[in-house]
This record gives sequence, structure tokens and C-alpha cells, in this order.
Amino acid sequence: MRVITLEEHFTSREISEANAKYNPPAPNQPKELIEFYKSRMMFGEALFDIEKMRLPFMDKCRITMQVLSYTSPVSDKVPSSEAIKICRRANDILAERIAEYPDRFAGFATIPMADPEAAANELERCVKNYNFCGVLVAGQFQGHFYDEPQFFPIFKKAEELDVPVYFHPAVIAKEIQDHYFTSPSWNIIVAGEFASAGFGWHMDVGIHVVRMILSGIFDKLPNLKIISGHWGEMIPAFLERMDYMFPHKITGLKRSISEYYKTNIYLTPSGILSSMQLEYLVKLMGAEHILYSVDYPYMQPDNVYEFLANSNLTQDEKELIAHKNAERILHIHE
Ligand code: CA
Repeated sequence: MRVITLEEHFTSREISEANAKYNPPAPNQPKELIEFYKSRMMFGEALFDIEKMRLPFMDKCRITMQVLSYTSPVSDKVPSSEAIKICRRANDILAERIAEYPDRFAGFATIPMADPEAAANELERCVKNYNFCGVLVAGQFQGHFYDEPQFFPIFKKAEELDVPVYFHPAVIAKEIQDHYFTSPSWNIIVAGEFASAGFGWHMDVGIHVVRMILSGIFDKLPNLKIISGHWGEMIPAFLERMDYMFPHKITGLKRSISEYYKTNIYLTPSGILSSMQLEYLVKLMGAEHILYSVDYPYMQPDNVYEFLANSNLTQDEKELIAHKNAERILHIHE
């Protein structure tokens, strides 16, 4: 069984340095926080390296192909002219690495959200010139969610090119971090994890996908495909409730929230290898809407292949999730 995983991160030193110029470390951070972040840096080398770490991991886990994306696409602090240049260069570098191992890697583009027209053009360039499979966007742009009309050209282009947009989490607004996730009852590291990869980032990007539905974008672009990681970022369990609370008469949309969700949204596990989630979401969404992802190098489970192969799904369902959906939606050919 071929295995294609979709949320697999990569970066190059040149691009991290170009981005770092606009993201200086915050001054006066508490010592325990600096130490904690340093311990996380062990992933650093695995993001850059292909030969010594990434390919051996893939071979060990029987992963045929990773679809690579930059961990944090260009920071929203980078001015737009510079962002356009950095994204072009980032995509050029990624395309060069993929070209060395075309049967092991594919790519999602990084695009400059600061300039939506330029972003749509860069997506087109990457799909047409480099055969990239789509685009990964992270978080919001300077506090603006992508349901706002200025970002429409990006999604219109994605639909026209028939490639998906992967909605990836990113840092959330400081006032939301403070309001929900900080308390005198727990320490600063717990607060940071609660506001980020432990919960807050996921809540945020789950809401982002619901915002796209409520904006009516899928009535305008009925063939647009959005991919949501981490088993849908908590949203699937809430679809019945949203259908009840957002009836047609208040949304003005053509269909119910769950109809759009089951039509236009595709889910991946992002390394949360939970059999209960897998079985529930195959029932809810259909196996055609589930793709596979590990979130390498942040997650490195050693049962990537066995998790699917030994699951209670039918062989057809396993094949769809392991590779056939990716081949169909991302236009990856054997
Ligand atoms: Ca990720």
C-alpha cells in the first residue's frame, strides 16, 4: 500500500534567515520559557535535512511520499514587496529539493498573503511550473481571516487550478491568549502550550474553516477544496449543532453547514493516530474525504503504516486514505 502524507514540514536556512529578520526574539522573556523553547529546537535540524533524517524516517514508516510545506510561511510582519520575493525564492528552493527525489516528495506552495493578487499568481506559477499540489496557509494575515473579500482571488485561483488550500494553525492574537489561556493557577509554559499547539491554535483554525463556510465562498466557488488537519480541528463534533443554530433563513446560504463541510472540506490526522477519531470521521465524512498526514518533524510516530493497515476499515477505505485520495485531489501520479 502506497502511503502519501500531506502535512510534512520543511524549511531552508536561507528562508528561515530571511524571515527571522522580521521576527526578532521577544525581549525579557522569562528564563524557563527560553529554556523550554530551546528544548523544542531539537526539531530544527529535521526541518532542514532530507538525506540523514527525513528519508530514513519515511523508509522506517513505509511512507512513499511526503507533500512538503514550509513550517511557517512568510511572516505577516514582512512588507509585501519583500514577501513576494521571499515566497518566490522559498518555492524555488522547495522545487529544487523535490526535483532531486520526484518519487518521494511533492510540494505545497507558500504565498504572500500581503498581496492577494500576487499570491494567486505565485500559486499559479508553482502549480504550472513546478507541479506543486496546492498551497498551505497558516493562521491569519495581520488579524484578518481569509473569508474577507480581499483574499478571494487566491481561492478563485485555487479552484480554477483545481488544487486544495491547506489551512494550518499559527500563533493567535495576544488578547485571545490572555483572555482564555492565562491564569494564576498554572505556569507560563502551560499557558503557552494551552494557547498554541495544546489547544488555542487548533480552536482558531477550526473557527477559520467555519468562517469560510459562513462567508458563502462555497456558493461562489463550489469546487474549492480546503484541507483541515488535526481531524478537522474540533469542528466535526459540532456540525449537527451548527446546522440547527445556523438555518438557511439566517445564513442565506444554499446549503447547510454540514453539507458544505462534507463536500468541500477534507480532513487529515496530523499525527494524531487515534482509531476512534479515524472510525468516527470515516463514518461522518466518508473515506473519500480523509487523507493522511504525520506533521513531521513535530510528530514522529513509529506506527504510521500499521495504524492504517491494522485499522478496522475495509481495504478500499484504507487505500483511499493512504494514497488514492491524495492522488486524486492533489493530482499525484504513480
Ligand atoms: Ca503542522
